[in-house]
Amino acid sequence: MKIRNSIQDIKDEITAYRRSLHQHPQTSYEEEFASGLVRDKLSEWGITFEDKIAVTGIVATIEGETNNSGKVIGLRADMDALDIIEDVTGKPHASKIPGKMHGCGHDGHTAMLLGAAKYLKENRNFDGKVHLIFQPAEEGAGGAHKMIEEGLFKRFPMDAVYGLHNWPKLPKGKIAMRSGPIMAAAERFDIQISGTGGHAAMPHKTIDPIIIGTQIVTALQTLVSRTADPLDPVVISITNFNAGTGAFNVIPDSAHLSGTLRAFTPEMRSNMMQRIHEVAADTAKMLGGSAICEFAAGGYDPTINTAAETAQCADIAKALVGEDLVDTDVTPSMGAEDFGAMLQAVPGCYIWMGQGEADETSHHNQGLHTPQYDFNDDIIPLGIEYWVRVVENTLGR
Ligand SMILES: [Zn+2]
Ligand SMILES: [Zn+2]
Repeated sequence: MKIRNSIQDIKDEITAYRRSLHQHPQTSYEEEFASGLVRDKLSEWGITFEDKIAVTGIVATIEGETNNSGKVIGLRADMDALDIIEDVTGKPHASKIPGKMHGCGHDGHTAMLLGAAKYLKENRNFDGKVHLIFQPAEEGAGGAHKMIEEGLFKRFPMDAVYGLHNWPKLPKGKIAMRSGPIMAAAERFDIQISGTGGHAAMPHKTIDPIIIGTQIVTALQTLVSRTADPLDPVVISITNFNAGTGAFNVIPDSAHLSGTLRAFTPEMRSNMMQRIHEVAADTAKMLGGSAICEFAAGGYDPTINTAAETAQCADIAKALVGEDLVDTDVTPSMGAEDFGAMLQAVPGCYIWMGQGEADETSHHNQGLHTPQYDFNDDIIPLGIEYWVRVVENTLGR
């Protein structure tokens, strides 16, 4: 691994920021602590920035020593935490905010981009301009989308944009990516079923919404197995089924289902959204009731890496950690990431950076969004070096 000394030298400083961020986790559009820390450091280092983009978002700008290329790129980090009660065992830097936790490592992402900002401001060995995007509300509230709505790519035009995420299941030192879809689109839906309640001993006088609900759940799974192309992945999961009052002898009036749809291609996504509406309504109708399906606003786009930018990042990663430690055709995840919204607007590449330890019980190996998870500070220099090389390589010296 070839990490320059001047980046190794700031590891302790950046680690301190990461741990401070971990102690002050805040969720969607309330990331005042993270946003404040970013503003303070950028000001201290003499880096210009604009803030209050999508409430707590910040875009900083660093110009290279030269700008003959006229090229501009963006590097993005997310700043938000999750509603999780942290398992604090052995963590001196545990969350100080009850019920909130940096359970996805966005504390590490923010810290590493700050490290890159500090290095790039001191060593402007590139030809062009870089925007550092500190984004709020990645976890479900569409912060990337809101930044774009508020003019991210109009106010700060970019030729390409780059993202990274720590990956606990990938060993520390490894990097993975792929050209094309790497994470899925995600949509949330609710299905409200109406029937006619009554005495459980006289079902013929009712329209049972529970029976309608069970038929809808089964029919939706049949969409996946019979309607979808088996070579184009899709997931429909019903995650809530609520009905009844607790009484054993009453058939209720209504039932409520909700769940998530995951897909990679726009065709599959829109086709399945349409079919979920139809299956819910028509199944309920067949059984004498009715059902209305609604998709929540702000669904997530699939994260689709563009070929040229991914090839460039693969070369950068190989030069950094060695060819054997880079997977350039990793199996995609059905998880979603709102960086996908940025990649719908601008070409670019999103990678996974391994942080797993040999000890399987390590906090760094626990899954994202679990109470035991912790970002691995050992990868901070690697993350900074990767960002710096993305700038130096894509813009040229
Ligand atoms: Zn997450
Ligand atoms: Zn995340």
